[in-house]
Amino acid sequence: CGIVGYIGHRDAWEIIIKGLKRLEYRGYDSAGVALVNGEMNIYKKAGKVNDLERFAENEELSGSLGMGHTRWATHGAPSDRNAHPHLSGSQKLAIVHNGIIENYAAIKEMLVQKGHTFLSDTDTEVLIKLIEQIQMEGESDLREAVRVALTHVTGAFAIVILSKEEPDLLIAARKGSPMVIGIGEHEYFVASDASPIVEYTKQVYYPDDNVLVFLNRENMEIRDLANLKITPYIQELELEL
Ligand code: GLU
Repeated sequence: CGIVGYIGHRDAWEIIIKGLKRLEYRGYDSAGVALVNGEMNIYKKAGKVNDLERFAENEELSGSLGMGHTRWATHGAPSDRNAHPHLSGSQKLAIVHNGIIENYAAIKEMLVQKGHTFLSDTDTEVLIKLIEQIQMEGESDLREAVRVALTHVTGAFAIVILSKEEPDLLIAARKGSPMVIGIGEHEYFVASDASPIVEYTKQVYYPDDNVLVFLNRENMEIRDLANLKITPYIQELELEL
């Protein structure tokens, strides 16, 4: 299971696919990518990253904001529909997730009562629908909706969230699952380890547990779950290509 996210000026698809292949050693059963380019386009498939590439080969695949995932199923069989990314009900928000949302069943029950329907058997889809529910209850700032949602979940996660309505925002957060942020010139990378990033930048930041990372093309803002601003410790990668 691995995550790659990109916001910048390059072709996100290329960076994400290459990055997912570098993370292949972590093992997985499905792969998927979301690209934001005026629309929210999702490509996902059970199988290898190669299968995903073949599946999407006739698509336009444009966009400089995107994320990808290789899944190691914990909740729901390996299948196309359980592959990440997962969408919110409005299909405006998408998530990729490594880890387990321990209390997903209780949250899912609450969401079903409020009228949400689920397209997958994953714990992950519950989290993106919870975020949209918080928005529907009046929280217009997506960053704040994600933060509030994360105060309700238990378990381990590394997540990336994108919105079709926010072409200059990538949200990442983690607790217990690995994540590194790569800092470039007018671009940022998110990945489960540094292997997808080294080719582009040596400046990295390893977020602590319970930290949210808000990235646009010019800035990185870090907050904890209590919404306090955190100053990131940026370090130089020692890894060689
Ligand atoms: N729990 C999630 C799922 O089963 C994510 C698994 C993973 O880390 O790849 O879909």
